[in-house]
Parts: sequence; structure tokens; C-alpha cells
Amino acid sequence: MEALTITCNGCGAPLMYHPKEGKLWCERCGNTQGISPFPWNGVSNAFIKAPQYHCAHCGSKMETASHQSAFRCPSCGTYWIDPYLYPEEQRPEGLLPFRVTKNEAEKRIQQWLGQGFFYPSSLKKAARIENLKGVYVPSWWFAMNVYVEYEAEVGYYYTEKDAQGNVKQKVRWEHHYGKLSKEYQDRIVAIKDVVNANYFRELTPSLRWDDLLTFNPLYTLGFEAYVHTRPEEIAFEEAKKAMEKDLEKAVIQQLPGDTYRNVSYTYQITSLKSMLVMVALWVCSYDYRGKKYQVLVNGWNGAIKGEKPIAWWKVLLVVLLILAVIGLLWWWFSRT
Ligand SMILES: [Zn+2]
Ligand SMILES: [Zn+2]
Repeated sequence: MEALTITCNGCGAPLMYHPKEGKLWCERCGNTQGISPFPWNGVSNAFIKAPQYHCAHCGSKMETASHQSAFRCPSCGTYWIDPYLYPEEQRPEGLLPFRVTKNEAEKRIQQWLGQGFFYPSSLKKAARIENLKGVYVPSWWFAMNVYVEYEAEVGYYYTEKDAQGNVKQKVRWEHHYGKLSKEYQDRIVAIKDVVNANYFRELTPSLRWDDLLTFNPLYTLGFEAYVHTRPEEIAFEEAKKAMEKDLEKAVIQQLPGDTYRNVSYTYQITSLKSMLVMVALWVCSYDYRGKKYQVLVNGWNGAIKGEKPIAWWKVLLVVLLILAVIGLLWWWFSRT
């Protein structure tokens, strides 16, 4: 198993990818070097799940997590990638590299910690950001067009007076058929336990297919990167489930009338595009009063998602206030 590093033409120090330069960059002398297409033809299709690495610069043993394809030597700091973990049939096609720097990500997290009403006021000051690191996460991107045919019973309200002269509300039911076309996008994280899959999903709708670059492992120099462990079929099933939930909502929205029952539909996927894409993320956890919370910052556009502790006394206060207002109104109307 041979890992690979790129060294500076000027001073020989290891290079890393620089989010602002868009090039490989030397921390020591500031030299930059363009990224040339990766010579994949030299890479065989060997895929070993837990390779052992030794740093060719200092001889140290390098521990990596399973499926980790970019890492750093703990002794001398050299950045390494293992292109052999990307055999042809499992290689990402697309990539969104880092544009947001570590400093910018940290500022963004600080700012985010101070936002929102229902969180502890001391959060921004007391939270300690730990272990902020840049990670390339593989994900399956899907774009599909769906054609739906549906039927339902839709109800229209009307009123009737009974023999005693009381007004009663009734429903007139009608059969209804319809069709609709919809476009769906979904992005499913393709490795478990590296990042929170829900936050990842919430972060990604702002990412565009048009922005994708061709995958090249040199972009991952200086960061952590992982290869996918979830096959496309499994990710697709997850995307389809989310789509079906959404389709039902879309159908219900289109129904005429005042109420509905017995909704059923069938659908066909009329076009499907899928791609394995590496997405740059800043990942960190922060510690607040002894508990850990994960935060993700999109390395491409700075969007942020994460966990925050809730200040329950604030929630209670708002609930009590609302109850007080309702009580007052009720008192007011019952008087008049
Ligand atoms: Zn240099
Ligand atoms: Zn080393």
C-alpha cells in the first residue's frame, strides 16, 4: 500500500490544498502549484479495507480510521493520500472542494452559537469548540423527475337544517383523479459515523450540480477524506422513501375541496441522474456544560447545521405568556 504526498518545488515541504488559492500550497514558503489531472492509469484496482501506512518521510507508523483515504503523519505533519482506495468502479466522479478557510469556519460557528432565542444566552461565551477539522465526505447525489397519477375522494362542506331547525354541517364526497410532474433532488451521505447524516442532508440542497469539479484526490491533501461504504442502491432506496413522503404531500396540496380521504397514487421515475460526489465539510464538536454537540459547516458555501442545547426556561416562559394572553382574551370575550 503506497500512500502519496506532493512536495514543494521550492523547499521540499509537503503541500496541501488551499481553499482560497484553489491550488496546492506550501505552508513553509508560500509557494503554490496548480492541480494537474490525476494519473489514474497507474492505480490498480486493489481495495484493502484496513491498510497499514508508514510515513516515507520520517518512518512513523500512521494510524488511520477505516476507509480513510487522506490523512496526516502524526510525527512530521506530512499530508498523505491513498489513491489505491479509489478503484475505478468505486471512484467519486464529482467534487466540491473547500472554499471556506478554517478561520472563516470557526468565525461562522461562533456567530451561529449566538443566534436564536430559545438557546442559553451564555452559549456563545461558554461553548468550547474542539477539534475543528476539514473532512471530505462521499455522498450520493440524485436528481429525478417523477410523473404521478393519483386518486382520492374530496369533500365539500354544506349545511342543512334538520326538522327542529338546527343547522348541521354535512360533506358531499366526490371522486377526484389527477396527475402531476415533479423534480426531486437528494444527497445521501455515503459513509456512516463520520458526520451526522441528517445535518448533512439539511446542508446540501444549496449545492448545485453545475458547480461540481471532476474528482481528483489532490484536493484532499491537507484534510481528512473517506471512501464510500454505502452502495448506490441502498442510498437510492433512502432517497426514494423521502421522495414518496413528499409526493403524498404534493398530491394532497393539489386536491380541490374542503377535505379529503382515501388518497392513493402511483408514480414513475421518468429521468434519473446519480453521481458519487466528495463534499468538503468543516466538522467540529463543541463542549457546553460537559455535553458534546456536533456542528457541520459546508466547506463550499459556509452553510451551517448543528445541535444546540435548548434553554427550557425560555420555552416555558413563552408558553406561559401565550397561555396568559389566551386566558385574558377568553376573560374579555366572556364578559362582553
Ligand atoms: Zn515550500
Ligand atoms: Zn512522518
